[in-house]
Amino acid sequence: MKRKKVKKLLSSPRLGSNVLVKGWVRTKRENKNIIFIALNDGSTIKNIQIVVDTASFKEDMLKDITTGACLAVTGKLVESQGQGQSFEINAKSIEIYGKSDPETYPLQKKGHSMEFLREIAHLRFRTNTFGAVFRIRHAMAFAIHKYFNGKGFFYLHTPIITGSDAEGAGEMFHVTTMDLKNMPRNEDGSVDFRNDFFGKETNLTVSGQLEGELGALALGDIYTFGPTFRAENSNTPRHLAEFWMIEPEMSFYDLNDNMDLAEEFVKYLIKYALDNCHEDLEFLNNMIDKALIERLKFVLENEFVRITYTEAVSILSASGKKWEYQVGWGRDLQAEHERYLVEEHFKRPVILTDYPKEIKAFYMKQNDDGKTVRAMDVLFPGIGEIIGGSQREEQYDRLLDRIKEMKLPEKDLGWYLDARKFGTAPHSGFGLGFERLILFVTGMSNIRDVIPFPRTPKNAEF
Ligand code: ATP
Ligand code: MN
Repeated sequence: MKRKKVKKLLSSPRLGSNVLVKGWVRTKRENKNIIFIALNDGSTIKNIQIVVDTASFKEDMLKDITTGACLAVTGKLVESQGQGQSFEINAKSIEIYGKSDPETYPLQKKGHSMEFLREIAHLRFRTNTFGAVFRIRHAMAFAIHKYFNGKGFFYLHTPIITGSDAEGAGEMFHVTTMDLKNMPRNEDGSVDFRNDFFGKETNLTVSGQLEGELGALALGDIYTFGPTFRAENSNTPRHLAEFWMIEPEMSFYDLNDNMDLAEEFVKYLIKYALDNCHEDLEFLNNMIDKALIERLKFVLENEFVRITYTEAVSILSASGKKWEYQVGWGRDLQAEHERYLVEEHFKRPVILTDYPKEIKAFYMKQNDDGKTVRAMDVLFPGIGEIIGGSQREEQYDRLLDRIKEMKLPEKDLGWYLDARKFGTAPHSGFGLGFERLILFVTGMSNIRDVIPFPRTPKNAEF
């Protein structure tokens, strides 16, 4: 007999038919003559109830059915006699694939803390919460490809090992095959990378954007979706050292087009989750965050506020709030400021634009005021910055001036400058932090709990 996934079984039940299901025991309840097993196979948050007539099975075998054990069960699918489920399976045969020692299986009781579950991240997939989170994570990844494919964007694979150190020097992870105990040195004491694997210094990428731009300037519209790495020592609930980013890059888009795309894109993803992940969202809404579904609908139904950085600074200055970090034109906004704007002042997502050029990257298009650049940050309730993007500087001379001004390694950026030398075009793009999106969509509060195996400062378990 062919195995049926529980999701399929429950969505199109053929009562009276014989079925084969395989999964892990969540709970086991015993009466005098009957055992009830809640079996979960991961395909849905819902368990299938297995009803076992103890007289028809060997006692030894039944003893080995404990929480966490893996079973294959055949039996008849019938309407449930009890409450809490519509269907159940009257077991005809049970095979135990893997026992689970009740003395040592860590997921016995309900109500483990998130911190504890993080320590057993190899087993936390088997909880309702993490099952829901990772099914939703999958759905969002799928929806991202669906959205862009539908709009004629091409999925571009930009390198993970990068030889360009202009992206974000200082917060990158080195990639080397050299003997760390015995690094060859130049005369001035710096490391000589000529004999390293790539013959030069290389790092793990912090962003695929620069390479993505080159794709966009030929293919039109592209997006990347891959892992990125930041060696910043940010021990916060919003930062990972390894995270996934989606970076669309579009020819012929100005900053307004860019904002329109960002807003349409995240709304599409939220709608996709509401339409396709209902059971998991309902569970998270009940157990993790009572306002979750309401908040998702609210974001879907309301336009994002769009204001400039300068306007935001005025609002913050006039707020009468005591800030931990000072507010002033030219200073970067901190999480407390972003959250005030989104959660207290506007009470909805906000897109901030036109930041001072000093606090933004070299590639952002300069405004005519000589002070600001066409940057945009999308700020979300409970999250802060979820997207960072900009219109890119497409003028060769202006870009070169900025590179010199910021003392960036001009020679390493020749390939990037070439894109402005040969057939330059106005273009824009942004980066969406995948885990920050998942935080928002699931209502989870720590970014470590929306990626299977989080990498953070002093932690790279599993
Ligand atoms: P932040 O100010 O929150 O540290 P950033 O300005 O460094 O973010 P960008 O370089 O603009 O971020 O990256 C684009 C997006 O990637 C961000 O909007 C955010 O969603 C996500 N992101 C950035 N850094 C991290 C990180 N360390 N962990 C997870 N997501 C991140
Ligand atoms: Mn940013």
